[in-house]
Amino acid sequence: ARSEIRERHESVAAEVVPEQTDLYISGEFVEPAEGGTIDTVDPTTGEVLASVGGATEADIDRAVDAAWDAFDSTWSGYGAGKRQQILIDIADAIDEHSQELAKLESLDNGKPVSESSADVYLAADHFRYFAGIVRKNGGSTMPEGSRLGQVVKEPYGVVGQIIPWNFPLLMASWKLAPALAAGNCSVLKPAEQTPLSALRLAELIDDIVPDGVVNIVPGYGEEAGPPLTGHEDVRKVAFTGSTAVGKQVMKSAADNVTDVTLELGGKSPVVVHPDVAPGKAVKLVAQAIFYNTGECCEAGSRLFVHDDIADEVLGGLAQAVDDMTIGDPLLRETDLGPKVSREQVDRTLEYLEKAESGGGKFLAGGGIPDDESLSDGCFVEPTLVDGLDHDHEAVQEEIFGPVLDVFRWDDYDEMMELANDVDYGLAGGVITDDISQANETARDIEAGYIWVNTYHDLVAGLPFGGYKQSGIGRELSEETLDHYQQTKTINLSL
Ligand code: NAD
Repeated sequence: ARSEIRERHESVAAEVVPEQTDLYISGEFVEPAEGGTIDTVDPTTGEVLASVGGATEADIDRAVDAAWDAFDSTWSGYGAGKRQQILIDIADAIDEHSQELAKLESLDNGKPVSESSADVYLAADHFRYFAGIVRKNGGSTMPEGSRLGQVVKEPYGVVGQIIPWNFPLLMASWKLAPALAAGNCSVLKPAEQTPLSALRLAELIDDIVPDGVVNIVPGYGEEAGPPLTGHEDVRKVAFTGSTAVGKQVMKSAADNVTDVTLELGGKSPVVVHPDVAPGKAVKLVAQAIFYNTGECCEAGSRLFVHDDIADEVLGGLAQAVDDMTIGDPLLRETDLGPKVSREQVDRTLEYLEKAESGGGKFLAGGGIPDDESLSDGCFVEPTLVDGLDHDHEAVQEEIFGPVLDVFRWDDYDEMMELANDVDYGLAGGVITDDISQANETARDIEAGYIWVNTYHDLVAGLPFGGYKQSGIGRELSEETLDHYQQTKTINLSL
């Protein structure tokens, strides 16, 4: 089975890995100034998929210049209607290549192809959503006596965007669609672990978008990140990634008082009330933590289940873990693929060791799957950890893997105090059939996005973003356009 997986990956890689893997600047694929490359690895097989260009400061400078040239010469002259059509054309191009992109994403990131197909669909949908709202993005007026006040929205010009590896194509879309809709040009840096789908997107949109409007510059975080976030000609920085790096991004942007939005980490609670059928809770909780191998900033990674149904829910979850198909992400039946990299496996295992030595007990999982056919890959077992103190590192910090910390409760206020006792505030889940209870808990959780009887459903039109150290700003909504524009007031005496 191990050789079968390798053969399958080799043949799919030959079919979908893009030919162009240099930096995409001003509508051309160019070698990085210092000639550095980054190997991007298939986390299922450990094989190198491609060597991509690694940007450094000189390349970032070049990309920012290209973006300003494009803004000044063409893009700033495009009206909303023209930008709308371009966004629709990008969505169509993504849809036309959906299967290829899904396979590429599964190869580079390790996510099951059922999930990468959903990502690709949502990526196209994101461009359509912003195409839809761009036409009503006017300003406002305040005529009053001999005064005509106008409030005008203007693009920043050139924005710098940095994305992580967990939803490579979808995050690129979450960044590019609103930036372009609002009238900006972009320099976007994908994560070094997963640059391929963004480079393929560059190829696909090359004939659609004027040269220099979108520039894709893969690079290592420390090499390509700071030159972009601290660039004096970049007027806005949008970052998705860890809270630790988000703080550095903010500091670096402060040098030029550059506007910043941040989508950072999470450690989201899922609260299960005693009135629900345990089976329903099991399904939702498993989905909340194990989707995308737990590599979701919004993952429901702390479970608070009421005493009355705790045994049944935890027993059901252990069974659900047993029933999961862990394996080749290129197969439709796979529920859980590998983590993105060896480094991420080690990080998860370190947390599991700490959890165990801190008194945690594994109700399921706890290590690496005992399956020879998966031995080349970055696999980790879905894991349930019981018995940790809520102030333990493995509870307070984001593991970013398929690891759920479980807690039982009977006193609502005490439970809610713990649920909110983390530095993060990105999301939360509530499971109950009692509508008043649902509303109360949703309001009590200190987080920017609450799901009731569902999870991970992130739909364009409903703003997404964090409270506390989970971030600043909102994506997925009209509010996002505001983050990519500045407000000018024209106060005219008639
Ligand atoms: P990371 O912060 O290390 O990397 C994210 C991106 O930042 C990568 O492109 C990386 O190259 C770049 N980077 C690294 N150092 C940099 C620096 N000094 N300056 C500028 N850029 C730099 O995060 P990661 O571990 O690769 O990704 C996982 C993290 O991202 C998790 O903590 C997760 O919660 C978070 N995340 C958040 C959201 C959200 O929407 N809130 C979405 C996805 C992921």
